[in-house]
Amino acid sequence: MRVKILGSAAGGGFPQWNCACSNCRALRAGTFRGKARTQAQVAISVDSKSWFLLGASPDLRAQIEATPELHPREGIRQSPIAGAVLANADVDHVLGLLLLRELQPLRVYATDSIRKIVTEDNSMFAMLQRVPGQVAWTDFTPRIPFRLLDTSGEDSGLLCRALPLGTHYPAYVSPQRQGELKSGEASLGLIVESKIVESKIVESKIVQSETGESGKRLAYMPAVPQIDDALLQEFESADVLLFDGTFWSDDELIRIQGSGRNIPTARQMGHVPVSSAEGSLSRLAGLRRPRKIYIHINNTNPMLNEAGPEYAQVRKAGWEIAEDGWQFDL
Ligand SMILES: [Zn+2]
Repeated sequence: MRVKILGSAAGGGFPQWNCACSNCRALRAGTFRGKARTQAQVAISVDSKSWFLLGASPDLRAQIEATPELHPREGIRQSPIAGAVLANADVDHVLGLLLLRELQPLRVYATDSIRKIVTEDNSMFAMLQRVPGQVAWTDFTPRIPFRLLDTSGEDSGLLCRALPLGTHYPAYVSPQRQGELKSGEASLGLIVESKIVESKIVESKIVQSETGESGKRLAYMPAVPQIDDALLQEFESADVLLFDGTFWSDDELIRIQGSGRNIPTARQMGHVPVSSAEGSLSRLAGLRRPRKIYIHINNTNPMLNEAGPEYAQVRKAGWEIAEDGWQFDL
């Protein structure tokens, strides 16, 4: 499986349009030791012909242009992007779907709740349903594996499974609407597995069979409200873990913007912070198998500063901090 990180920042990107925190200010001034980042976006493929997006970032147009593998290949209208898998309905995770509205056939995999929030509560997304066969919404159920289909509708060799990570909803979903939806369907992590397919020749025909042996496994967890033992077990079975690096501390935004303005904590926004005793750095310290990479990093997070102690601490603990344009094979 080839994994491309097209964007690595949380919502707003880095720098963020209205932010003058020390990170954003220094980056604009050209004095920051660290990189600018677009809003989180991952693309995966097994054959480098059909690609799948994990989420759909508001920066998707520029991210596609910066990635030759995702450019059209033949004819006047074509795209190697076969589909998108949605882990939540956050604006910075679904807005990019509207950029894919040019009557290009596309499959979007989502739970019933995420599909309803996006398509029934936001009429602009009807742009994806103007003609039959434009966007095919494909429902999945948390915990039940589903296959990703390539651009010709065949099994791509990628198997996906969503883990429910709590009951967090985007701020635009009203409490009443939340009450109408099935619980545990709107805040998910994604496990993507490449299957090992064996080809053998039987009576001069090529027969492909899945060996049953599991292939390589990617865990994509851009928004994790808390870490329990079952989740730790899932992570230990992954080869690469892309984990929520949104905030360094729970009160990060309050510290920067001042208290008394109803600024939420990291946990209230559905993100376990990196630091502190119950933070991800400490809770995931025992993981042995996966390569550990922080992604979805907010512009205020001090670990973006490669000259700072937080960056050094994270790197020393064996973590990497994702940058736009990274690619790896697993
Ligand atoms: Zn900032």
